[in-house]
Amino acid sequence: MKFEKIAKRGYVADPTPLQELKHFRKELGGPQIWIKRDDLLPFGGNKVRKMDYLFEEALQAGADTVITASTNQCCHNGILLMLANREGMQSKIIMETWGDPSYEFSSAPEYELYRLAGNPEVHVTSEFPSGPVSEMPLALEIAHRVQEEGGKPWFISRGGEGPLGACGYVGAAFELVKQWKGQIPDVLVCPCGLGGTQAGLIVGLRMLGCPTKVVGIGVTGKSKAVMEQSVAAQCLALTTFLDIAPISDEWVCCVEGCAGEGYAKPFAGQYQSMRMLAQTEGILTDPVYSGKTLFGLTELIRRGVLDGAERVVFLHTGGMSLYYDYHTLRPLLQEG
Ligand SMILES: *Cc1c(COP(=O)(O)O)cnc(C)c1O
Repeated sequence: MKFEKIAKRGYVADPTPLQELKHFRKELGGPQIWIKRDDLLPFGGNKVRKMDYLFEEALQAGADTVITASTNQCCHNGILLMLANREGMQSKIIMETWGDPSYEFSSAPEYELYRLAGNPEVHVTSEFPSGPVSEMPLALEIAHRVQEEGGKPWFISRGGEGPLGACGYVGAAFELVKQWKGQIPDVLVCPCGLGGTQAGLIVGLRMLGCPTKVVGIGVTGKSKAVMEQSVAAQCLALTTFLDIAPISDEWVCCVEGCAGEGYAKPFAGQYQSMRMLAQTEGILTDPVYSGKTLFGLTELIRRGVLDGAERVVFLHTGGMSLYYDYHTLRPLLQEG
């Protein structure tokens, strides 16, 4: 199988825990709920599974500097910085603020962390992302300068997007099926940001003939149709990359209406779900991704959508660095 021959660095050496959420379920009712603790991955977030492959590719190409872009509210840039340090590479980071011109890196909650962890070159842009990092004028300018200084630049895609990055979640699907030991859940709930995590899981489970349905909870405010089209396209890119048969679009399912006012904008309902998990199980979720996904799961249960299900698994994608974003929850404290 081609998948098993694709080289990676080995950042993810051990399976992350799979645990039952008994107390949480007692509050909520519904099917058995299990959690896949990808928040306990080394470096604390789902991006490390993707970068396991992407850094291998960069190193094989002889790169000594990685250039990437992502929002300040995604664990992507922070994890890239740590991994570049580990590999002895330079990192050049573009913080995208999605139209918010008020962001200032030097007064942002993550500033000290970045300084402590290598003080990388950070550029801030409030332009909306359009097209891949490797085509951004700013990224190209940085790459050009690195080359002039004798370095070898390499672009790492935004959020680890693309088939090679998604292989990280094919691997996670393989890991899960082993952990299930034949007790196959009906549904696996994960966040849908750019969608690579969900696409990797769908393809990985289908490769093993596993009937579990992967449900992606939209965290960016995109419509169901737009998300499903994007995830289906990523599944196709991945199966093509892996030289395997394409997967029917029936396996792609995304849920809208769980993102509040949009990406990185928290709301009272999600605050309640986050609080319930923290107080019943001692597990923190982040305000941008896993908190909204958890809200999505509780909504599916409350609305009876999962009534026929016996067992569901919630993928906690981590985002430890986003716990710095807890200050954005403060306005919700009165309501919750
Ligand atoms: C990036 C990110 C996601 C979204 O993953 P996609 O593959 O882009 O859908 C989910 N959770 C966390 C913590 C993230 O940083």
